[in-house]
Amino acid sequence: MILEFENVEYTYESGTAMGVKALSDINLKVSDDEFIGVIGATGSGKSTLMQHMNGLLKATSGRITFDGKNIYDRDFSLKTLRNHVGLVFQYPEHQLFEMTVFDDVCFGPKNQGLDEEERKKRAVEALKLAGLGEEYYDVSPFDLSGGQKRRVAIAGVLAMSPDILILDEPAAGLDPAGKREIFDNIRNLKKERKITVILVSHSMEDVAEYVDRLIVMDNGRIAYDDTPVNVFRNVRELEEIGLAAPEISYIMQDLRQAGLNVAQDIMTVDEAADEIYRALKS
Ligand code: ADP
Ligand code: MG
Repeated sequence: MILEFENVEYTYESGTAMGVKALSDINLKVSDDEFIGVIGATGSGKSTLMQHMNGLLKATSGRITFDGKNIYDRDFSLKTLRNHVGLVFQYPEHQLFEMTVFDDVCFGPKNQGLDEEERKKRAVEALKLAGLGEEYYDVSPFDLSGGQKRRVAIAGVLAMSPDILILDEPAAGLDPAGKREIFDNIRNLKKERKITVILVSHSMEDVAEYVDRLIVMDNGRIAYDDTPVNVFRNVRELEEIGLAAPEISYIMQDLRQAGLNVAQDIMTVDEAADEIYRALKS
């Protein structure tokens, strides 16, 4: 199913003196089975854009269609849209409130009107995908670590079986180990479910090695929408809008300038190791 934005603009407190234009001239198309990263400096409009994807915010102008239907039409069901497009907010653990992990994950499917058997099935599957075993089912979410709470929140949205899963800064506030855990988990679930995943981050480093497509936001506009390799060719422009390319790409650039014939499109440390080895051998 395709979610498409056409000339979308959004202004907070539109029509008042306090108006803040947060999105301008947004055109994009999200299709099935994509892995998309959305990056941009703080305040560039990432969260605002995500909240348009499931109809939480309504565009001030422009059009959004899902499966060809205008989501702002009176007979279009936003509830249905939200069953297809699942949004995990930044710091989602603040939204955990049931007594046990299992009940919390069942909350969404319950709201969808699914019967108990189906709810349980969905919850078990979602918890497994989120990397939480049975030993967590009866634990209170409040007794978990930050990373584990985050996984419960992700499982809660996964249990609603969305076609598009949006994660807004899923690693915010986690230590490096917790961060890696969450990202590896997202990668695995993307592989298993074959749904579209949209990963939002203010850090290139975080998303570059995972996604196939990178959307760069700058000041409410889409600055780039391309493969990570193509986006990172614009190192200088990215720095100007407050984004550094992955550290490894600077190292590769230095090596090239020093005369080592390494490729330009290297994004991870593992790739760099292979590439340097290859260049040294030849
Ligand atoms: P990001 O997620 O990239 O950090 P946001 O989408 O949160 O960016 O914010 C985009 C712009 O909209 C910023 O200028 C921000 O200050 C403004 N903004 C965000 N939320 C609100 C709000 N509730 N009321 C007014 N302005 C807001
Ligand atoms: Mg944000």
